[in-house]
Amino acid sequence: MFFPWNKYEELPTGRRNTLQIFITNCCNLKCDGCFARNAMADNSNISLDEYKKVVEQFITKGGQQINILGGEPLLHPNLKEMLKINKDHYLKTTIYTNGYFLNKYKKEDFQGAKLRISLYCKSGNLKSVDNLPKTDIPFEVCYMVSKTSDLEDLLSTAKELESNYSCDVFFISSIRELDNPKKEFFTDTKITMPVLEYKDLVH
Ligand code: SF4
Repeated sequence: MFFPWNKYEELPTGRRNTLQIFITNCCNLKCDGCFARNAMADNSNISLDEYKKVVEQFITKGGQQINILGGEPLLHPNLKEMLKINKDHYLKTTIYTNGYFLNKYKKEDFQGAKLRISLYCKSGNLKSVDNLPKTDIPFEVCYMVSKTSDLEDLLSTAKELESNYSCDVFFISSIRELDNPKKEFFTDTKITMPVLEYKDLVH
């Protein structure tokens, strides 16, 4: 089957200046494939002042979008204040989370921000939809396909989310890009697991 390119017009994509900010090293989970696990030994948070300074500097450089990551961002005691700062500056915000603490928040806390939850499976100890608390807060899900995933599990995860949550978007993600020979997307750093080792672990 060929994709009918002639039926679609490709729109030029503008460059969006995005800041990825890791607000906490605390996390309630210990996922095998956690890219941040070497950084999480000290359980520290960035302060609200530090956050404000970084955001102000980012805005002077034309910043438009902030991705909030951790550790587990919902564990940061000042997350709501951080979201307010972003909203006041008309910044688009996406929070990457495991979703386990959504029941500690209200829908209104995330106005103007998107939540993206990564899941590994329907049932299980780690990142399963069965472990998500019941909530009316809308979110998107990224289902991480790994060497242990199967189609039945993926379908039942999607079904469960559709029936019981306000899940707007369901992505299926794989990490095949990890062995992209040009290393366009990832480079090894001192605090992260070497990319190829990570790929062996999860793929
Ligand atoms: S939930 Fe995220 S930050 Fe926490 S251990 Fe798992 S991958 Fe790492």
